[in-house]
Amino acid sequence: MDEVPASRFDAWVRPLTALCDGHGLTIKVPNRFFLDGLKASYGKRIGELAKSLVGDECVVLYEVDANPPPENETAQSELKESGTQSNVDGYIDPRFTFENFVVGSGNEFCHAASRAVADKPGEIYNPLYLYGGVGLGKTHLINAVANELLQKDHTRIAYRTGERFTNELIQAIRNGSTDAFRNQYRQVDVLIIDDIQFIAGKDRTQEEFFHTFNALYEVKKQIILTSDRSPRDLTNLMERLRSRFNWGLVADIQPPDLETRLAILSSKAELAGIQLDKDVAHLLASRITNNVRELEGALTRLTAHATLTGRMIDIAFARHVLRDLLHEEVRAISIEDIQKKVASYFNINVREMSSTKRSRTVAFPRQIAMYACKELTTRSLPEIGASFNKDHTTILYAVRKVDKMRQEDEDFDEEMGRIMRLLKQ
Ligand code: ADP
Ligand code: MG
Repeated sequence: MDEVPASRFDAWVRPLTALCDGHGLTIKVPNRFFLDGLKASYGKRIGELAKSLVGDECVVLYEVDANPPPENETAQSELKESGTQSNVDGYIDPRFTFENFVVGSGNEFCHAASRAVADKPGEIYNPLYLYGGVGLGKTHLINAVANELLQKDHTRIAYRTGERFTNELIQAIRNGSTDAFRNQYRQVDVLIIDDIQFIAGKDRTQEEFFHTFNALYEVKKQIILTSDRSPRDLTNLMERLRSRFNWGLVADIQPPDLETRLAILSSKAELAGIQLDKDVAHLLASRITNNVRELEGALTRLTAHATLTGRMIDIAFARHVLRDLLHEEVRAISIEDIQKKVASYFNINVREMSSTKRSRTVAFPRQIAMYACKELTTRSLPEIGASFNKDHTTILYAVRKVDKMRQEDEDFDEEMGRIMRLLKQ
């Protein structure tokens, strides 16, 4: 296949097995993720080729291989592949490209940094550390870097999630193959770890990652990391790693503004081949504000409902199909609001919400506010903690305590009910 670059051929075509029986073509793929990626990148072309080779009625069936090699063998074969056939070790999503990424407020800095790293890996920002809330495009950006690098030949990339890195290490320790584990990472030109926060608190994994980091950094190989928190806020992270994460560029990604959300919607609609009414787009973009994944999910759901029922996507239809999502967003309430209202309910100064005072008159209202933040907002425990000047374990403690009290004390439960209703108004 001349039309596919060698590295893409190894990654996407070589793993396939095909069976042609005269009526149709059955293509076996290694796994579900692979299937999604293959269809997105080459589905159309495969269909065309099948028709031209077998005939117009040719049906293409995809089948996920029911007998994939066991987990550690997969790791082993990927390991071998990384040195020989393919330049990629790990799964890189072909849909996440720079072309498909909408640049706007909130993400422009991370985008520019990622672009720069894709242009000159290992040369300017090393490591590149992207952090921010869920669903804001971190995984998309690092895949875009990888996809861009794959266009250039001979760039060897290892892509892992923090979780997988950890699990592989555990496997390697169990199998006595830590040397192989180490070597697979030291041969690459670019090491990408998504959600590195996963290794925090895991000493052996951090230790191993520390040595890998040093080995690669010394020879100017690019390291790219993402996290839900800044290095400073990663509790349980070794100091040595924290300082290294700050050596290159630390960039944070923020939720997009309305204009950017509209642009993202319009781009996703175009990719999905649907026409999205302006008012509907506005409704979604103004209600779903701090998670692009949810915005995208809403669009997917609308499209599916419209396709299955044959109805037009207008405002009434959108409101109906997305009633749970939109309803929730209407009620969206901020941590600051909760702190203010709870403080005024208990007649204390709002500043006490983030003070260190421990007297019961302020400590208990504070715990109630923490509980309400967890129940009524979509913020994570660390985020809530930051607003109270406390760490996430303090928030968790408060949430559990109030929960328990509500279960055990009817009067208190009733009063909490009143407070929660007040907060939702
Ligand atoms: P994160 O890793 O930060 O949790 P993801 O990268 O998984 O977020 O993004 C969630 C979804 O939102 C993905 O489908 C991604 O394509 C999409 N997305 C996020 N930001 C953008 C953007 N600026 N332009 C286009 N799509 C985006
Ligand atoms: Mg992610």
